[in-house]
Amino acid sequence: MLANPKLIIISAPSGAGKSTIVKHLLSSGLNLGFSVSACSRHKREGETDGKDYFFLTEDEFREHINQGDLLEWEEVYLGNFYGTLRGEVDRLLEAGQSVIFDVDVVGGLNIKRIYGNQALAIFVQPPSFEVLKQRLYARSTDNQQSLDKRDEKAVWELTFASRFDYILINDKLEIALNKAVEVVSDFLKA
Ligand code: ADP
Ligand code: 5GP
Repeated sequence: MLANPKLIIISAPSGAGKSTIVKHLLSSGLNLGFSVSACSRHKREGETDGKDYFFLTEDEFREHINQGDLLEWEEVYLGNFYGTLRGEVDRLLEAGQSVIFDVDVVGGLNIKRIYGNQALAIFVQPPSFEVLKQRLYARSTDNQQSLDKRDEKAVWELTFASRFDYILINDKLEIALNKAVEVVSDFLKA
């Protein structure tokens, strides 16, 4: 365990660039470990169970809720449950890493509430709602129904930005990635 382990929370509406930014931070030599969440949605092409998510049935997910295994959980989209496993966070902290989370805005603020100053909550802000929609469509991982659900929810999620410790504008990707490394490494050093 690090003497002063930290938690980095990355939240935003779907399509804002969380996964892209998290991947970059994980490859930037910052000694961060990714908290692999549990979720009940279907696995997308290219995703790996245990690496991107622990893909569970809704019944299995509910079993984890009942067992008290989840630090936080949300039904982020109707019928799709997502949650942070306490065991994941403990495993990473015990391995001497700081922990990075890719979670929705409500989950992000819940984790921040639990860990206080030990956590840095970053909101990834797309340049506009139109750009957010374009990115989500261009990613081509969701069917029309899922895209509609994500677009609808994004309007509400964007109103959460000011409650976060830091708003990271993701317009030009390279600038956003460099800024993310700067902000996170400063927080880890503090
Ligand atoms: P999230 O994890 O928040 O849902 P992703 O990281 O999957 O978002 O990004 C959504 C899509 O937008 C992906 O196809 C990604 O490659 C692309 N993307 C991310 N950031 C930018 C950017 N700054 N400019 C253009 N495309 C981007
Ligand atoms: P996706 O289906 O695009 O992978 O994720 C949908 C949303 O669920 C994203 O906003 C993602 O950050 C969020 N999410 C992923 N894991 C968790 C989690 O453990 N808890 C919460 N609250 N949200 C999560």
